[in-house]
Parts: sequence; structure tokens; C-alpha cells
Amino acid sequence: MTAAAPAPLRLDPADQAWMKDPATRAVMDALEAARPGASRYVGGCIRNALLGKPVADVDIATRLLPEQVIEAARAAGLKPVPTGLRHGTISIISDGRPFEVTTLRRDVETDGRRALVAFTQDWNEDARRRDFRLNALYADRNGTIFDPTGGLADLDPCRFVFVGSAENRIREDYLRTLRLFRFEAWYGAGAPDREGVEAAARLKQGLHALSAERVWSELKKLLAAPDPGPAIAVMAEHGILSEILGVNGNLRILGGIINQDISAGLEPDPLLRFAALVGGGPERIRIMAAKLKMSNAESQRLQGAVDPSLCGEVEAAFTDMAAAERAIMSLGARAFEDQVRLSAAGDVAPPPRDWTLLAKFAREWQQPDFPVSGGDLILLGYEPGPMLGDAMDALKAHWIAERFEPTREELIARLKH
Ligand code: ATP
Ligand code: MG
Repeated sequence: MTAAAPAPLRLDPADQAWMKDPATRAVMDALEAARPGASRYVGGCIRNALLGKPVADVDIATRLLPEQVIEAARAAGLKPVPTGLRHGTISIISDGRPFEVTTLRRDVETDGRRALVAFTQDWNEDARRRDFRLNALYADRNGTIFDPTGGLADLDPCRFVFVGSAENRIREDYLRTLRLFRFEAWYGAGAPDREGVEAAARLKQGLHALSAERVWSELKKLLAAPDPGPAIAVMAEHGILSEILGVNGNLRILGGIINQDISAGLEPDPLLRFAALVGGGPERIRIMAAKLKMSNAESQRLQGAVDPSLCGEVEAAFTDMAAAERAIMSLGARAFEDQVRLSAAGDVAPPPRDWTLLAKFAREWQQPDFPVSGGDLILLGYEPGPMLGDAMDALKAHWIAERFEPTREELIARLKH
């Protein structure tokens, strides 16, 4: 008796909300109308569907050339946007969302950062230029899975194995090192693939070839995983983390923040986790922000989180609500909450201090308005400039110290003296 060949693995479109979604179907219909059988779903959507994880964005690989994709979209009344025309990527906007449609391709030349590509009609070639076997799974519109590189073997336990030689694949594009740890953090189970990690460690200096923007964006995605702790620990152990950050990283405080998120059911907050990981004060944050080309908003948020000027008040806030009010008034609610969480994350011995009450208080407390303005001081004869600013600051400090009780009249009278 011969064993029956195993049925090909299939995703049932009826069970997959993203496949049933009329926006997805409109894109697939448009491509199929241009050339039946030439287009397949690929990458994260298939990986996540097989892992039972939510599918955020849908990527499609196609034998159609970019101009044919544009044509197909237009013929179906959808909007094509040539986001990466030279690389063969057209975004098709459907129901207001972009679907990335990329012509099958192979890398002709790579330099560690970007690739020169050639289009192909060969699904296997397209699979070979992808980073991980689990990211090189395809499915047609009926859900039939195609696995040119053996990615299905990596599903359980989930691990990310490079397509081909890890060393070569990282040399082609050093971002793949960070993608390895990001995907491990999000989906990996158990220890990550040894060959991949060892190659990443050997080639860690290549990370400097990457643009700061790509590193920072990838780092944030890594830190946004529900529990990036184990992946980051492996990066630290192999010197990859210090290669990126320039410092070793404080895994203990990071772990404290992650535990807070998990125990309080909070959305992961990559910036706060970053502040926990890099530690240090405003100077270190300033250097990091410049090095990683963070946005002003990000850099300011981090500066607030590590601003040491009121650390005494923040510590006192755990037992004294008046200190909490003073600190919120001076730091702002966001920075106060960040500092409270960072402080509690560093607690070694139980019982931990309750940061949740303080965080809630920071969010809900209505800050009283400071009743005196710069105009009032000018009426009193102050010249606009630093002297006026100093006088305002001193007056506000007094008002905060007095629990916001002094009235406008009392404050102005104080100035007159
Ligand atoms: P997610 O969208 O959840 O971040 P994804 O796997 O879809 O995950 P994308 O960055 O959207 O990741 O890329 C889509 C696919 O393109 C990947 O699954 C992979 O096959 C391929 N890919 C993306 N970036 C690279 C890279 N740097 N090197 C090789 N292949 C890549
Ligand atoms: Mg994707």
C-alpha cells in the first residue's frame, strides 16, 4: 500500500478575513483579469495567516510587469501609485488602503543597503531573494500555498531561517539582521536559528552601513512586539545591541517596562521601552536622537522621560499626592508618567510601588491654570526678555510649592514686593 501524498496545504479563503475583504478581492480581481494565475499573495500575510496572527498589510507578487500592473489597476477603476517603480513595486489603492504589488524579481547586484533588480517570470527566483523561508510563502487567490524554499518547516516551532546562506544574505542587506530579531520578537518560539544569529554577530559591523532612518524604524518595530525581551537579550549577548546603540543596554529596566505592559494590559510603547533600554540622562538621549535621526517629537518625549530635574519629586509622588501634582505641573503629564514607570521598572525588591495609580492620576488630573501672564509682568514694568522669564518661573515655582492656592492678586502683590 502506498501512502497517499499529503494534501497541499491550503488557507481556506472563507476563514481568512483579509482574503474575503472586498478591498483585497478588488485588487486580486484586477490582477487576475489582466492575466489569470499570474499573481499570488506573499510574505507577511501568508506567514501570519498560517501562524494564526492578525494580518496587517497584504503584499502581492506578480508576473505582470509594473506597467501592466498600473494598467490592470486603472482598468478596474483602482488607483495605482508607483511607490517603488524601479524595484517593480506599485501600490494599488483599494478602499483607501495601499496593497503593494511587486513584479517577480531577482537581485542582480547588492551592496549591503540596496539592490539592483531584474524582473523574472520565475517564482523560485523571486523566493530566493526574500529574507526568510517563512517570508517566502505564496498563496493564490484560492488559498493554495506555494513553498519554494521549505518555509513550512519553520512554522512550528516558529523560527526564522534565512533563504540560503545566512552570511551571504546579511552581506547583501544588513537590515536583515534587524529583521531577523524583529520577526523573532514578534513570532519566534524557542531559541532563534543558530546559523542566522551567528552570522548576524559576525557581521554586526555592517549595521553601520545602514541609514539611521532604517535602523530606527526597524528598532521601533522590534520594540513594539508584545515581549521583545528574549530577542533583545540575544542581540545583547552577541554584541549586536551595543553595535547599534553604542551602549550595552539595560535589559533589567526594559524587562520591568515589558512586565508593566503585560500585567496592566497596555499597548507596547516603543519609545518608553527605548528609554528604559538605553538608560542614562538627557545627554545620552540627545546623542542617540541625533545618531538615529529621531523626529523632534520623539526626541522631546525621550528627553522628558529622563529629565532628572524633578527626580526627587517623582520619587516622593509614590507616597505624596502633593508631590505628584507638583511634578506633573512642572514636567507635564506625559513625562511624569514615563518617569514614574521607569522608576518603578527599576524596583528590585517587592512589593513594587504602584505606578498604575499615579499613571491614571497623571492622565486624569486637571492641571489648574497659572493665573498670571507675561502681560501682567509687563504692566508692572518688566522688560520683555530673560529677566521677565526668570521672574515668571520663580513666581510659578512659588505657586506650585503653595499647592496652587495663591490667587492672582496675591501673586501680583508678591511681585510688587
Ligand atoms: P510585516 O509587513 O508584518 O512587517 P512582512 O513580512 O510583510 O512583515 P514587509 O517588510 O512588508 O514584511 O516585506 C514583505 C516581504 O518582502 C517580506 O515578507 C519578504 O519576503 C520581502 N522582504 C522585505 N524586506 C526584505 C529584505 N530586506 N530582504 C529580503 N526580503 C525582504
Ligand atoms: Mg508586509
